[in-house]
Amino acid sequence: MPLSLDENDIAILKSLLEDGRKSFRQISRDTGITTPTVKARYERLVNVGFIKGVLPVFDFEKVESKGKNLIQLQGLKENVKRRKNVGTNAYNSIFQNEIADIEKKITSGLAINILCDFCDGPVYGKPRILKFADIERFFCCTSCKSGYSEKYRGRIESIKRKYDGKSET
Ligand SMILES: [Zn+2]
Repeated sequence: MPLSLDENDIAILKSLLEDGRKSFRQISRDTGITTPTVKARYERLVNVGFIKGVLPVFDFEKVESKGKNLIQLQGLKENVKRRKNVGTNAYNSIFQNEIADIEKKITSGLAINILCDFCDGPVYGKPRILKFADIERFFCCTSCKSGYSEKYRGRIESIKRKYDGKSET
């Protein structure tokens, strides 16, 4: 008998689509489903082989280009569109090929361009880093760093509070 997904499963999957690294607790907060249920449903979706894995999403726009031969993993919408057009099996093999291509591109020395999170200017040399909760922000200079801290103080404090609450399990 096929496992038919109910609205809890769908809510969990949708929440994961936003960020595959979310904790069960975080998904629980997003969806209003209890943490143990989220965990059980997630594990079941893995066990039945529907969730195959959680992949990082790369932005190859940020790679210093040595030519335009970089192949990007298409956005989710693109993939969904193509899936409709080509059928599931073909879709899976396209997807596998893209992942294989990406694996080839992920080599040491790959340079990720960093823009200052305050002034949007390029960061030459070593970035100034602001860390709060599990977030890092990068800046070109100390005045951008402190400008950002000032401007977003309230938001940063509230993110910290939520994060501390989360790690208490
Ligand atoms: Zn700056």
